[in-house]
Amino acid sequence: MQAQRRVALISVHGDPAATIGAEQAGGQNVYVREVGRHLAALGHQVDMFTRRISPDQPEIVQIAPGCRVVRLAAGPLEYTSRDHLYQYLPAFVTSLLQFVKKQRLSYEAVHTNYWLSGQVGLMLREVLHIPQIHTYHSLGAVKYLNVTEIPSVAKTRLKIEKAILETAERVVATSPQEEAHMRQYVSRAGRIDVIPCGVDIENFQPVDRSAARKQLGWGEDEKILFYVGRFDRRKGIETLVRAAARLSYPVRLVIGGGFTKDRGDGLERERIGQIVESLGLAERTVFPGRLDQEDLATYYSAADATVVPSHYEPFGLVAVEAMACGTPVVASKVGGLCYSIVHEETGLLVPPRDEMQFAEAFDRILTNPALRDKLGEASIRRIHNHFTWAGVSRQLGNLYKRLAVESNSQRSSVA
Ligand code: UDP
Repeated sequence: MQAQRRVALISVHGDPAATIGAEQAGGQNVYVREVGRHLAALGHQVDMFTRRISPDQPEIVQIAPGCRVVRLAAGPLEYTSRDHLYQYLPAFVTSLLQFVKKQRLSYEAVHTNYWLSGQVGLMLREVLHIPQIHTYHSLGAVKYLNVTEIPSVAKTRLKIEKAILETAERVVATSPQEEAHMRQYVSRAGRIDVIPCGVDIENFQPVDRSAARKQLGWGEDEKILFYVGRFDRRKGIETLVRAAARLSYPVRLVIGGGFTKDRGDGLERERIGQIVESLGLAERTVFPGRLDQEDLATYYSAADATVVPSHYEPFGLVAVEAMACGTPVVASKVGGLCYSIVHEETGLLVPPRDEMQFAEAFDRILTNPALRDKLGEASIRRIHNHFTWAGVSRQLGNLYKRLAVESNSQRSSVA
């Protein structure tokens, strides 16, 4: 009988079983959950390790056959911003090793996510001697070019991001643009494979536009722009609002995503609300709050365009989800968005922060339903050909296997 292939995915701050759209849970949580689920469907045994943030949380959650989330004690049992988690990483490693020992587990590979988990991987490899695969999700070196307030942990983060690239058996860039950033800003050393993010195409399918609008209570003839995601300055929601205000006809703006009052995302939500008010758009703007993944296909399909106005975006799941639903995306010409979106073919790419050009792109789609539909149809084809979680997970599973074989043969040639 063939031994079951067991892999560990580590996501210290992005719990794959978290409610997406709340408590800063976004793309990374979805990535780890979907990769885990799909690897399990391919026959892997998958353990996804994350930090426990509440005494009420179950320690183990089985999210699919062969795929479970293991929440480890490391630091306070409460939400802690990712900028303050570094100090708890040694405790995370200790808890993980205890779990592995108690359950007598051994892994073929460990796939770490974001620099915090990457550091966990660097510590684990000293003990477990298994290949480490790493996905950054965000690169400090690029992120800090785009923000005004640099956190005190920045120096540590940059040092660790470099060590990961130079040490891990493989780094996964989710777009060729991310790979170029790694080479330009992180290190020339280290091995990188490009494997994109994906979409759950069972969930993200086109819904008839009129039916979707009816369900949401939106008018058949309204012009509708949709944003969904975290409230974070780097998401550029302000550009969307200011660009919409430049249009000479009424537009309904739908800005979805959860937030917590007085936290970073709550403050950004408040700031965006004030800009909406000051531009006289309050009556036509809706903030529906956190949206369930199951409901999102209806929102994407009901909109004329989905807008992703980020200042920096390593990949950008929202763009591919909207495309899978046949909705064109107007996005900033940055990072992975230049990979998923083909300008003029599946959507429109615009320089980040450029409200004039965003307004022009909105106008082209809102006043030309034939263009909207053409871009939307090409989007669906592009997603089905290149960006499904099933395809992505197959590539990752093959990579783990190759690296495990290489590492075994290296060890046996040393022995
Ligand atoms: N999301 C959601 N509901 C919300 C807000 C966001 O389900 O209310 C999901 C969204 O569908 C996407 C993810 O959160 O799957 C955001 O990922 P993306 O890569 O666009 O941004 P990130 O969070 O990584 O910056």
